[in-house]
Amino acid sequence: MNSQEKMKTLMQQKKGRRLLLFPLPLQGHITPMLQLANILHSKGFSITIIHTHFNSPNQFNYPQFTFEPISDGLSENDASTIDVLALISLLNSNCVEPFRDCLARLLSEVAEEPFACLITDAVWYFTQAVVDSLKLPRIVIHTTSVCSFLAFAALPLLREKGYLPKQDSEFEAPVLELPPLKVKDIPIIKTRNPEDVYKVTGRIIRETKSASGLIWNSFRELEQPELAKLAQEFPIPSFSFGPFHKHFPASSSSLQEQDQSSISWLNSQAPKAVIYVSFGSVATMDETGFSEVAWGLANSMQPFLWVVRPGLVSGSEWLEPLPNGFLETVGGRGHIVKWSPQQKVLAHPAIGGFWTHSGWNPTLESICEGVPMICSPDFGDQMVNSRYVNDVWKVGLKLEKGLKRGEIERTIRRVMVEKEGEEIRQRMMGLKEEVNLCLKKGGSSYQSLEGLTDYILSL
Ligand code: UDP
Repeated sequence: MNSQEKMKTLMQQKKGRRLLLFPLPLQGHITPMLQLANILHSKGFSITIIHTHFNSPNQFNYPQFTFEPISDGLSENDASTIDVLALISLLNSNCVEPFRDCLARLLSEVAEEPFACLITDAVWYFTQAVVDSLKLPRIVIHTTSVCSFLAFAALPLLREKGYLPKQDSEFEAPVLELPPLKVKDIPIIKTRNPEDVYKVTGRIIRETKSASGLIWNSFRELEQPELAKLAQEFPIPSFSFGPFHKHFPASSSSLQEQDQSSISWLNSQAPKAVIYVSFGSVATMDETGFSEVAWGLANSMQPFLWVVRPGLVSGSEWLEPLPNGFLETVGGRGHIVKWSPQQKVLAHPAIGGFWTHSGWNPTLESICEGVPMICSPDFGDQMVNSRYVNDVWKVGLKLEKGLKRGEIERTIRRVMVEKEGEEIRQRMMGLKEEVNLCLKKGGSSYQSLEGLTDYILSL
């Protein structure tokens, strides 16, 4: 082989080994994207991450990746998750130019070692047009469940059939087109202009259909019928090799400092005695709901570890809306933190249940540790995830009436001390076992990841 041929072979080997990733700057999206970056890096890919200034990932935790910041044009007022759909819409229009410039520069700088593709969050819908113009394939990662994505994809149909806008009197009615969903579970997102829900989700779905591939943080044994339906409705190469965080145990993608006193406090508790309560990084509640949560916890008489994120209660700083007498009533039985090392918490032997807003990351994290859930969804995909947890996988109980202290107290006791909770835990342990198997050599997630690696190299 002469030197020119050697160079050509070297370039072919290198081609396809460089990847560009573009996470959506929200905690629930950054986490799985960085986990994906770690997974692909371990497969021999080099990783460049394009990111906004808003919620930029902590680069010091990832010396193995290259980071490329772009301007997001957000003012201090814009940079808020109070109306998350408005934020998504704004980011998708503000980032077009900076992203295009950054991508064009990166593609020209490394002409001898080209990028195989862009892997972007599906919510960055504007990126399809940009990569088309630069002739770069785009693979999208969906950080939600397949079941909730299918529900979003069905919104236009559900609207046509008259399910939307939701009527209170119809809340408990079944959605015949999407069993086991009820009308109240349809994944609508609260926003200033309700019409934007259809616009934004419509764009996400359309640009998903134009992508060269789909990645899911899910696994076949959990969502087999939904993956089959997806293959029919979206005939695009699709790869589900979750749960991502099981490929790499430690999570360093947290945007906020994790209070380690959560673990020292848990160390002093009895096995499976504690209910862990966290509603994620975006969900909010009003003071009345917060007070119901507090009294529900107090009256359940169970030890609890509660994450009260500053901003959880609209319009307040932190714990001021706690009802009078609450702290005195619970004494040492409760521990409150602003943000926890959640994956470590869920893996702790003292944890017996997880009361969650049913985001997709916490749902998977709970399944991986075999912890039964109590679900109180706030909006969007959480509505669908919680219905599946309650009705399909039967690994948790949904608070069907919202935040009411009586139902909260009863449900905590059903999960933590009654026989029903033990049965739920048994099913959960079965799912946990499925997770372990699917990640092993020959398992569904293992194979799907191999499939993705080959696919990227073939692009
Ligand atoms: N998380 C955490 N500490 C907390 C609460 C959450 O580290 O106190 C992590 C959690 O493990 C999960 C992510 O933050 O991986 C939130 O993901 P989710 O899908 O709930 O998204 P969100 O609803 O917050 O956007």
